[in-house]
Amino acid sequence: VTSQSAAAVQAAQATTIADATGLACGSFCCDVVLTVERNRIVEAANACPRCRAWFLQTPRTMGPAATLDGKPATLDVALDRAAQLLSQARRPLVYGLRHTTTETQRAAVAVADRLGALLDTPGSHRGPHGVTFQGVGEVTATLGEIRHRADVVVFWGTNPAVSQPRHLERFSLHPQGEFLPNGRSDRFIVVVDTTRTATAELADLFIQIEPGRDFEALWILRALVRAQPLALEEAVNHTGAPLDVWRQLAAKLLAARYGALLYGSGLSNSAGGYLNVEALNALVRDLHVGRTLEVRTRCVARAMGGPGNLTGASDVLTWQTGFPFGVDFAHGYPRFNTDDFAAERVLERNEVDAALVVAADPDVELSAAAAARLGEVPTVVVGSFEMPAMQRAAVTFRTAVPGIDHGGTVHRVDGIALPLRPALTSPLPVDGDLLAQIERRLAKIHVGSSL
Ligand code: SF4
Repeated sequence: VTSQSAAAVQAAQATTIADATGLACGSFCCDVVLTVERNRIVEAANACPRCRAWFLQTPRTMGPAATLDGKPATLDVALDRAAQLLSQARRPLVYGLRHTTTETQRAAVAVADRLGALLDTPGSHRGPHGVTFQGVGEVTATLGEIRHRADVVVFWGTNPAVSQPRHLERFSLHPQGEFLPNGRSDRFIVVVDTTRTATAELADLFIQIEPGRDFEALWILRALVRAQPLALEEAVNHTGAPLDVWRQLAAKLLAARYGALLYGSGLSNSAGGYLNVEALNALVRDLHVGRTLEVRTRCVARAMGGPGNLTGASDVLTWQTGFPFGVDFAHGYPRFNTDDFAAERVLERNEVDAALVVAADPDVELSAAAAARLGEVPTVVVGSFEMPAMQRAAVTFRTAVPGIDHGGTVHRVDGIALPLRPALTSPLPVDGDLLAQIERRLAKIHVGSSL
């Protein structure tokens, strides 16, 4: 067989998966075209280098599908042990749900409900969106609407040129929109950040702000938009930027036909935390009210989000329990208290005596003290990627990779539900199926114990 004919045979065996969704960052680009040969992805057209690496290089041959105390076990035996271990706990925790589908998140809620467990995600301490929403509400829009309408876009504490490489091309900087036919030249781009980032290099206006001064800056903008009096010199000194710059930004926002404030962890994780996000949403509200009926505009706020399906987790928990994270089922019904029921706090207070970790790396997500405490209690870890918690776990399940090995649904940061189109097959189980099996075993244990 000549090398030419061998190539022709291989090409004939190749299949194409259109509209695959990349999960390497929060943009969830859903226009990737995958080429598959012999159960391997060999090309990912439309993907940026990060997503290409995710599709082509994500390790899919980890250890055994199930282990007990580090030793390989059959799935049945491991599932029995997991159910037994969790059912014996007085204060079990179900934690994670970042790198998985909404179907699996729903199965995790059922397990937590059955156990009377505390259920939390990294959203409770990394994503203030849920708390802010309850506090001041939110005027927001899909990324599609922002693409078609926003003629003034402010990136606050976010650097999408690096963190979400195709965001600018797809939604906020370059694309033609229905009401922005000239693409880039129809948009005025502002970056507010503590350092001159790659996104700042592309902006029309860069405002360098002192670290931790976001709240003051947003309050100044609120006052300028509402034409409220300011203690001027004090304001200048606090933010690190001259007041004229804030005046320029307030005027730009008020003059916009449609403004969009896109914020990231540089805002939500800086001093002030979720209060910064509340301030930004309050500014958006003020822009709608303006100084007078003539001086006001349409504006929206949108979190940029991080990797994984935390928006899906927040949505699933809300539609299942009424709360976006930190849900306690201990009383037999869902209760919510932002700080008291956050996994990090509960672990630091030594309340948890067993845990089920699903699709998140606790050593990355939690404080060192919380992660250390988690390492001391019997833990069941379910994940499609290797993580240190697997080495410490009593029971582990290694699962197929969502978006590559199996389908399902994820929610983009703006709440748009996107289907995953799996390209490959895997001998490993799907995480949601495992959780459903654990839940069925828990139901039997509970029925047995109540007889
Ligand atoms: S921007 Fe994000 S989701 Fe889109 S192709 Fe790149 S890594 Fe993947």
